[in-house]
Amino acid sequence: KKRIAVLTSGGDSQGMCAVVRAVVRAGIYLNCEVFGCYEGYSGLVQGGKLLKKLEWGDVRGWLSLGGTLIGTARCKEFREREGRLSAAKNMILRGIDALVVCGGDGSLTGADLFRSEWPDLVKELVANGTFTDKQVEPYRNLTIVGLVGSIDNDMAMTDHTIGAFSSLERICEMVDFIDSTAASHSRAFVVEVMGRNCGWLALMAGICCGADYIFIPERPAKAESWKQSLKEICLRHREKGRRKTTVIVAEGAIDDNLQKITSEKVEECLVEMGLDTRITQLGHVQRGGTAVAFDRFLATVQGVEAVKAALENTPSTPSPMIGILNNRVVRMPLMEAVKLTKSVATAISEKRFEDAMGLRDSTFKE
Ligand code: ATP
Repeated sequence: KKRIAVLTSGGDSQGMCAVVRAVVRAGIYLNCEVFGCYEGYSGLVQGGKLLKKLEWGDVRGWLSLGGTLIGTARCKEFREREGRLSAAKNMILRGIDALVVCGGDGSLTGADLFRSEWPDLVKELVANGTFTDKQVEPYRNLTIVGLVGSIDNDMAMTDHTIGAFSSLERICEMVDFIDSTAASHSRAFVVEVMGRNCGWLALMAGICCGADYIFIPERPAKAESWKQSLKEICLRHREKGRRKTTVIVAEGAIDDNLQKITSEKVEECLVEMGLDTRITQLGHVQRGGTAVAFDRFLATVQGVEAVKAALENTPSTPSPMIGILNNRVVRMPLMEAVKLTKSVATAISEKRFEDAMGLRDSTFKE
């Protein structure tokens, strides 16, 4: 029987539990044994109890849960070759030669590096006497499959990452709560939302909550004039009878001089207009709560596809990342998606804003 391990790594997101459930059950259905690797890559590096076979019933009830019940971690040891050598040893000890990783671009980069090093790691484990040639014979190659679990929706080559819609839902609920008090007191609220250097959550929340103004990294505000523009637009809305003002600021919002647009700068502007203004940092509630239906669906269909991809991958094909494009589940070359994602950040830091928008177009649709 083929043995597959599944792990969640990097920042948590809603839907990660549903991914583990789907991989475990699709694996069992397709006649594999599936191991849960606990605490991200630490489970591979340390082995032992952190690498545990999961049965059908072990993931019962996991479909809707938030966070990840097999844990996630940022594992320093796995960044070092020594750590990856230990990971290879623990995998071979359990007879595992396929790994499904659900995480962000960092986790997927680590997975791909592990795969490319694998043949050398195995040779070293023979050379240092851990295993014999015969013992490692069935494990000459490692299969890696990536799934993107991230609330930020910041991965290229896929329309949606697992967790993004749940996080968006949380933000919208919170802004709705704020709205009622804002309208009662005729106040202005500056709401800061997560997303790192991706503005998807902020833009979508702004649209879905009818914000007056939205700041996102992909469309940097004009340093010269954004304050004036913000004031004019908010004032126009007030003059038309709006009793509240809502401004959404993405975590990574910048102006075209690459200066950070902070909630405090925005607040200052609104106060200058005479508005009673409050800042709300939503913080970690954005990662919390159950997964919305779309994330349950995405995690399930992509988890099933990940197991199929693990069974079909050959040593000569690049590691696949499972994505969704135009409502179809697809396999993309993992490292191409990671490289494209990184080039968006580079384009922004080099002030090539138009390029950044173009590069992100599979992830970030206006
Ligand atoms: P998020 O987007 O939520 O931060 P991420 O997957 O990008 O998720 P990282 O902290 O970058 O989060 O990576 C998670 C873990 O993946 C790291 O702690 C490390 O164990 C492993 N990892 C990341 N990059 C590498 C790398 N280049 N080589 C080896 N391992 C890596």
